[in-house]
Amino acid sequence: MADDQRTRRRFMWLTGTAAMAGLAGCSGDGGETETEAPTTTTSASSTGGVPAAYATATSLDGTQRNPDSLSSQEAVSYQDQPKDGQQCSNCRFYIEDKNDDGLGACAIVEGKVAPDGYCVSYVAYEG
Ligand code: SF4
Repeated sequence: MADDQRTRRRFMWLTGTAAMAGLAGCSGDGGETETEAPTTTTSASSTGGVPAAYATATSLDGTQRNPDSLSSQEAVSYQDQPKDGQQCSNCRFYIEDKNDDGLGACAIVEGKVAPDGYCVSYVAYEG
């Protein structure tokens, strides 16, 4: 009888210890989850491939650039050379150079564009 009780107590102690060890594993270092801190920096991809100063700037005709709604340069066959006198610097969608690097941006196309570049979305600026 006494041996049975001792055996039962030992069993209870062992199962209790095992349960506590399991709980410790869940709430301790073993259960750690990694979370990324929110970032406040603006990456080039979130601005549509241009410095922040161009992200929502307005073009020659006043069209506001929307970084979330731009065509890729590939999609509009952008090139670094003008075509028959048509070039970004006289296109209504051109955003002039803001940081003296010789390049501007476009209200409808992602990335920096050259003043003497051209794409199939060209529309002459009549202003
Ligand atoms: S020619 Fe194309 S890339 Fe250049 S400003 Fe006009 S729409 Fe933008």
